[in-house]
Amino acid sequence: MQKILVSRCLLGHRVRYDGGASGPFDQLQQWLDEGRVVPLCPEVAGGLPTPRAAAEIPGGQGGEVLDGHAFVITTEGEDVSAEFLSGAYQALERVQKLGIRIAVLKANSPSCGNLLTYDGTFSGVKVSGEGVTAALLKRHGVQVFSELELAEASQALATLS
Ligand code: SF4
Repeated sequence: MQKILVSRCLLGHRVRYDGGASGPFDQLQQWLDEGRVVPLCPEVAGGLPTPRAAAEIPGGQGGEVLDGHAFVITTEGEDVSAEFLSGAYQALERVQKLGIRIAVLKANSPSCGNLLTYDGTFSGVKVSGEGVTAALLKRHGVQVFSELELAEASQALATLS
């Protein structure tokens, strides 16, 4: 059965930086019931606590963090790139081990955002870009959707099943 990597915070797990979570989402619940969901929070997997300081990537490009050209910085000025990279590579290891080709990751996150991220100024400004984990998974051919694209994710699953 084709499995799907899903951000833990979309499954109601209170792992978000502020201790919150999102959902419930009917489509994700259906996939849970089918046994397809592989939950992961890259930031927690990378060793960060919950709650934790908010973090953004100056410029908003997770791919640049992968390449060592940008860093993930918290509101307190701490560089948490190493934890973000660790979480991203754990996600990659998981998808490669399980043959996962679809991920549903939380929109706008510096780890999980697939289309938009915050610009690093902590002022709510979003730019076109990907979080660190989303960028790494895309580089390795995983189709990454957000909770705003569950219909598209479902269609992608149908083409693989
Ligand atoms: S958006 Fe990603 S990194 Fe952030 S809490 Fe959710 S699963 Fe964890």
